[in-house]
Amino acid sequence: MVTSTPKFCSACGGRLAVVREEGRSRRRCRRCGFTVYGNPVPTSVALIMRGGRVLLTRRARPPYAGTWDVPGGFLEAGEHPEACLRRELREELGMRVRQARLLDFALDRYGPKGFPLLTLVYRVTPAPGRLTPGDDVSEARWFPRKAIPYHAIAFRGLRRLLRRRISGR
Ligand SMILES: [Zn+2]
Repeated sequence: MVTSTPKFCSACGGRLAVVREEGRSRRRCRRCGFTVYGNPVPTSVALIMRGGRVLLTRRARPPYAGTWDVPGGFLEAGEHPEACLRRELREELGMRVRQARLLDFALDRYGPKGFPLLTLVYRVTPAPGRLTPGDDVSEARWFPRKAIPYHAIAFRGLRRLLRRRISGR
């Protein structure tokens, strides 16, 4: 399982102890002093709208397999967020990007007890072409604005952002 509470130091393998610091609970190595800050991991995702409809993807893998999501994924080391967006859309949907504009941010966790996420949400205009869902996606579907299954979007921060941006509430 993906967890935000490691027990051992990633630097030396020593056991981590819980410490309070700056009003936050952190984990620190008893042996070498390495501190686990629990920094969020960045992801880039796409809000894609066309003719009053929104493109959602169904998650094929945990966490939250079977729920609806927007396409996107984790940044690789040294990768620009927009390059990540373009790569993920190509891998997940076979989609090429005509235009991408940074729209907003969402804060989430990767699963109920997962590590923190910082999600960069781009408004994307795709280039014409067929969608070919990849391994991470079991289905891609265009939903009319009024029929978006918000209740079936598992990431709460993302769900709130989409409600606000798409439905204005
Ligand atoms: Zn250590």
